[in-house]
Parts: sequence; structure tokens; C-alpha cells
Amino acid sequence: MKITPIAVPGYERVAKAEDPAAGLTAYIAVHDTTLGPALGGLRMWKYESEDAALFDVKRLSRGMTFKSAVARTGLGGGKSVIVGDPRRDKTPALFEAMGKFVESFGGQYITAEDVGVGIPDLLSVRKHTKWVTGLSRELGGSGNPSPYTSLGVFEGIRACAVETWGSDELKGKVVALQGPGNVGYPLCEYLAKAGARLIVSDVTQDNVDRCVRNLGAQAVPPDAIFDQACDIFSPNALGAVLNDQTIPRLKCKVVAGAANNQLLDEVKHAQALKARGILYAPDYVINAGGIINVSLELEPGGYDEAKAVGKIKNIFEALKSVFETARKRNVTTHAAAQEVADAILAEGRAKKAGKPATAARH
Ligand code: NAD
Repeated sequence: MKITPIAVPGYERVAKAEDPAAGLTAYIAVHDTTLGPALGGLRMWKYESEDAALFDVKRLSRGMTFKSAVARTGLGGGKSVIVGDPRRDKTPALFEAMGKFVESFGGQYITAEDVGVGIPDLLSVRKHTKWVTGLSRELGGSGNPSPYTSLGVFEGIRACAVETWGSDELKGKVVALQGPGNVGYPLCEYLAKAGARLIVSDVTQDNVDRCVRNLGAQAVPPDAIFDQACDIFSPNALGAVLNDQTIPRLKCKVVAGAANNQLLDEVKHAQALKARGILYAPDYVINAGGIINVSLELEPGGYDEAKAVGKIKNIFEALKSVFETARKRNVTTHAAAQEVADAILAEGRAKKAGKPATAARH
């Protein structure tokens, strides 16, 4: 296997691996390990070009730095991608070669599942490295992260309610939820139990039906979810759902859901929501439950569910502090989350250097 380092300003270590015999072309990007080893999933995707794969791995690993910082997982940010079609190009040899690539980072990068990669693939990766998380409970891992992400989003919605209505009471609140899938459905269950009324949309009819049947939800066609009069809009399907077309249509006071990269343009669309008086829960703060859960695998005593749940519930406080920063400084909640992340990273850097921390910006 040929491993080629790539110099990328602002990133600690980026490398490309090529193993023609195994059919592997892959990238690992370690953005920042100030707060701990870089943990982030392995994605397999039909990238249009190798440049597109490199762009994606850099973007995703940087995002993991901020997500883990705000969630105080004690981890840094990293990510890896394999160039290939997950439906056609998967072989055990490919993932074993990926395991050797992960191992070459000596624990600086720790991998997990992501789009296109499942537990059987990770078992092949693990043949050549121990730096794999997110395996099933039977295999000593922390299991499926989705229900933990749902719990974190629910806690985050409570924090949004406190900020918006002065109370975490969700009884009678109307929630329009897009995508009741692995994360969205357990979130619907939490919301229904808290007395919220649900309006749901999904492109998978079965996922809509179970919400109607089990939770008394009202179903609407996929695109109509943006037009529903509601208190909270909760995106739990795709990225980039908050954009020039959708934001003017929203009839809510709060946007809070699990989907990654909800804002098409992070600055412009965070401002558009603020201008409309809609409170936005920054995605990487509210959807950190899954990474928090997996991070517990790396604690000295190993995975402990009660400890994980305790830490996930801190998303309530993490969001409250983001909202407070946004209010005090009259900035968007997205900008405030970035400030909180920068401050935590600055504190970590100062600790490493043995100096007192100073805020990163202001
Ligand atoms: P999932 O595939 O189980 O659920 C997504 C749901 O959205 C599916 O039911 C799908 O049919 C539906 N959907 C797709 N397009 C739609 C559309 N146009 N309109 C309405 N519904 C649509 O995925 P998931 O694991 O639940 O993840 C959901 C989101 O949360 C993703 O953006 C993911 O990146 C993010 N996320 C997930 C986790 C996790 O632990 N799984 C952690 C952090 C962030």
C-alpha cells in the first residue's frame, strides 16, 4: 500500500492511501487533536473525483473537531473516506486494507461507521487495527448510536423551549418533524410522551405510518412539512434543508433536529433565521448524542450506558450556553456555537502548553 502525506494548512495530518490489489483509494484527515485523539466515521461514497473526496474528508473532519469540543467528549476531530460505490465495490480485502491505513495513524485517528459503511465492514477494518469504535454491544462496542442521538435532540428541544417560552414544558406544543427514521422516530416517541402534537413527513411511507399508528401523528406530504403552522420544526432527514426557498415558508419559533449540515449557507441562512425571529439549535451541538455515546468506549473503564446518558443530557446545558452567548453578543446561534467551540479549544491548547486559557475571539 502506498500512503502519501498531503500538506493541508490548518490540519494536523492528512494522507491518501492507494492499494490497487485491494481496490482501495482512501483519505484520512485529522483536523485537530488538542482535546484528544481524532474520532470520526468512515464514509464510502461514489465521489466524482479524488479532489471531491479530499474536499469532503477535510470538511467533515473539521466539523468533528467542533462537535466533539462543544460536547466535551475529550476527543479531537477526524474523518476518513473511501472512494467507491458502497453497493458494488465493497470487499473484505478493501476494508482490511483500510484497517492498515487507519493503523498507520497509530491511534491519532479512531474510526466508526458513517454513510455507506456498516458493522460487517468495520469487522474487516478491525483485523488490522484496534482503533475502531461503534461495534455492537456483543462485540464490546457501544451499539447503535441513533437512539442516543434522539435523546440528545430531545434534551436540546427542551433547552430551545426554555429559551423561547421560558419553560421546558412541551405539552401542547406542535412539532413538525421531517424524517422519522433511525433518529427521528425515537425522537417522536420522546416528544409524544412529553405531550407534544406531531406532524410528520417522510419519503418512506412505512416510517410515516408507524408515527400515525403508534403516536397519533398527523401525516403530510414530504414538501408540505415546511408550510405547517407549528411551534418547532425538526429536520431529521437531509442536509441543506434551511435555504432561500424554505426559510421564508417556515411557520415556527424554533428549528431543532438531528440532520447534519442543515444550513445551506452557514452564515447567510443562520442570519435569515435570526432575522425572522426563529431560534436555531446549531446542528452539531444538538446532534452530538451519538458521538458522546461512542466516546464512552474509550474511557478507562470501557463503555458505561448510565454515564453516556448523563453526558448526553448535558446537551441541554450546552445549548443554553450557546443561546446565552448569542443573546449577549447579538450574534446568530451558529456563530455563538463556533465561539463556544473556539473557546473550549483555546482552553485545551492553553492547558497543553501549561498556560491559562484566553478566549479565542472577541
Ligand atoms: P435515516 O436514514 O434512518 O432517517 C432519515 C429519514 O429521512 C428516513 O426515514 C428517510 O426516508 C427520510 N427522508 C429522506 N429524504 C426525505 C425527504 N426529502 N423528506 C422527508 N423525509 C425524508 O437516518 P438517521 O440515522 O435517522 O439520520 C438522520 C439525520 O441525522 C441525517 O442527516 C444524519 O446525518 C443525522 N445524524 C444522525 C446520527 C445518528 O446517530 N444516526 C447522528 C448525528 C446526525
